[in-house]
Amino acid sequence: MKPLVEAQREVLAAVGRLGTETVDISDAFGRVTAEPCVSRVKVPPFANSAMDGFAVRAADVARTPVALGVIEDVPAGSVPTLAVPPGSATRIMTGAPMPEGADAVVKVEDTRVDSDGAVTILEGVTAGVNVRKAGGDVGIGDTLVDAGVRMTSRHVATLASVGIMPLVSKIPVVAVLSTGDEVVEPSTSDLGPGKIRDTNRLILKSVLRELGVEVLDLGIIGDDPAELSEVYQRAAASADVIVSTGGVSMGDYDFVKQVLGDMGSVDFWSVAMQPAKPFAFGSIQGVPLFGLPGNPVSTFVAYEQFVRPALLHMMGATRLFRPRIQAVIGEDVETTPEKDVFLRVMLAPDRSGTFVALQSGGQASNVLSALAQADGFAFVPVGVGSLSAGDSVTLEMFTWNEDRMLDD
Ligand code: AMP
Ligand code: MG
Repeated sequence: MKPLVEAQREVLAAVGRLGTETVDISDAFGRVTAEPCVSRVKVPPFANSAMDGFAVRAADVARTPVALGVIEDVPAGSVPTLAVPPGSATRIMTGAPMPEGADAVVKVEDTRVDSDGAVTILEGVTAGVNVRKAGGDVGIGDTLVDAGVRMTSRHVATLASVGIMPLVSKIPVVAVLSTGDEVVEPSTSDLGPGKIRDTNRLILKSVLRELGVEVLDLGIIGDDPAELSEVYQRAAASADVIVSTGGVSMGDYDFVKQVLGDMGSVDFWSVAMQPAKPFAFGSIQGVPLFGLPGNPVSTFVAYEQFVRPALLHMMGATRLFRPRIQAVIGEDVETTPEKDVFLRVMLAPDRSGTFVALQSGGQASNVLSALAQADGFAFVPVGVGSLSAGDSVTLEMFTWNEDRMLDD
């Protein structure tokens, strides 16, 4: 058996990076930066008020109350035309540029507007109070997003603030297919004898959508060498990556193995992991191919451990693997010490707030219902073999969904 980390290293070494393109910032969400994004401007671009109120000279309001003459009104979006001389103030709105001469803003709540074009300042301020300095958020030359980062809403917003249209990696087209004579469309209402609904293609299409890549759905292909060969050729002609499920283990009808063996340079691996031990990896006409095992949980685990990091690598991402965190296992668990084991677990805080992981159901590789309930994997590495309730355990979280109601 091949150790998991070795298998992952081989996969990453075999997949190349895609090219790059410049995109409009409105299309940059989820894309991976291909170079550091360095600001050439300041944010804010000009000193401006943090409050609705009056721009003043702090020295004028050292003692309060004090009346100042209001010389101008500056809403956000317009610019002051007058410098504030001693004894005066400019009425200013949040975000409006500070007038020359003024060095602080008194918020409107701390003033009383007099009828004769004057304002009485009730609370003093020192210089700089309620003023947002030019460049206080971003300075010229600041790196806002490093190269190799898959951008979130916050990354794209900060780039938007400086007007950067980022250079990003291209998005791979991923061909997806399910194999097996027993597999039928999920919408089938009456399953014929011996048939099952296709779950793998839907898992894959969903996780790929989540990752923001383009999916080419090639459907369900029966256990027929000619048909399989034709569809793999088609996939190689139009996709950057091929992901198929089923047919890579030891069965008599595992034609995928035969067809792939004949077609390209595809290796069949036995990886020291559970689930997802049998796994095919290689290329067809230079296009990387992942042949994932057919059991749905195995498909998901193999996607998480091989396909997802490989796609992120192709997209130029620096960090490829999900965060691992420590929690406590809430029950005794036996695993096989020869393999890296990925248990499907639910995570919830106990009364003291410590996160405790419990198996989310049956751990066989066909038990999709337990995967559906899970928040992540408990990763039990080679050599461990058993955990006792209360032991520390490493988790790899694949969802971290909302878990509180308003009053919790
Ligand atoms: P295989 O890897 O083709 O030997 O399949 C292993 C197990 O996974 C068998 O029980 C298959 O019926 C099942 N299986 C294969 N493909 C799918 C699929 N697309 N959706 C659900 N189950 C599948
Ligand atoms: Mg099969």
